[in-house]
Amino acid sequence: MSAATQSEHSFQAEINELMSLMINTLYTNKACFLRELISNASDAIDKDRQLRMSGGKEMKKEYKIQIIPNKSEHTLVFKDNGVGMDREELINNLGTIAKSGTKEFLKRMRESSAEAGKNLIGQFGVGFYSAFLVANKVIVFSNKDGKRTKWTSEANGKFTIEDCGTSSDSGTEVQLEVKASDLNVLEENVLKSLIKQYSGYVGYPIELEVTSEKEVGEIKELVTEFEMVNTDKPLWQRSPNEVTDEEYSAFYKNFTGDSEEPLARKHFHVEGD
Ligand code: ADP
Ligand code: MG
Repeated sequence: MSAATQSEHSFQAEINELMSLMINTLYTNKACFLRELISNASDAIDKDRQLRMSGGKEMKKEYKIQIIPNKSEHTLVFKDNGVGMDREELINNLGTIAKSGTKEFLKRMRESSAEAGKNLIGQFGVGFYSAFLVANKVIVFSNKDGKRTKWTSEANGKFTIEDCGTSSDSGTEVQLEVKASDLNVLEENVLKSLIKQYSGYVGYPIELEVTSEKEVGEIKELVTEFEMVNTDKPLWQRSPNEVTDEEYSAFYKNFTGDSEEPLARKHFHVEGD
């Protein structure tokens, strides 16, 4: 590693503001970081598929999201094989707030009470920075166009970027160094129930790394393997007569952030590119 490949950057002022608002409002609902990181992974896979489709390129053989807890290192990793980000994209996407929606959100948060703030957060989503609800430090490795780049931050107003050589596949790994007060998020049963709760609408397999005792021949051994957690098919892949009113309603509320029931619904299938 040469010094030239590493650079330090400051977060845009609004990001610092967003983070402190989030930490003050969401301390009772920290687990939402899981939904945000899974939805980013799922969006990145969607983008890879769209790019390949519009560029006439072949799809990857397999798309998936993997979640890897490590209790001895106190880390939790979210891995996807979506589009990935290059150096510039890491700086822009994880260092500035480009979307006007988030600016509007900040404006309304400044004007609202704590309770109303929680509803606003539900509607807008808090995004990537929610990782800092449970992590002291976040490290992102992202691979794109053959290059691997590292983004690191301890949420102290700044982040660093470093070139990390080459990679053959695109995708992103988000590694959380979990706070001592939040180590329960590394427990297998806690992770499983949170993943089920927050990812019912993700269309790609979400695999959790689990360790269990297995009999290998005569002896018992600790075996580490990936287990798919979101085994229920998402709504849109099921037949309309298998989906209940409650499921449609929950899907609508989750998708839109609306607390009211939907006015109407239509469920249909389309074939083709
Ligand atoms: P949003 O998802 O609403 O755009 P986020 O704060 O969750 O906002 O993420 C900011 C941006 O960072 C995303 O729009 C995307 O461009 C990028 N990003 C985040 N996570 C990933 C990922 N796993 N793979 C690729 N890009 C990502
Ligand atoms: Mg997001």
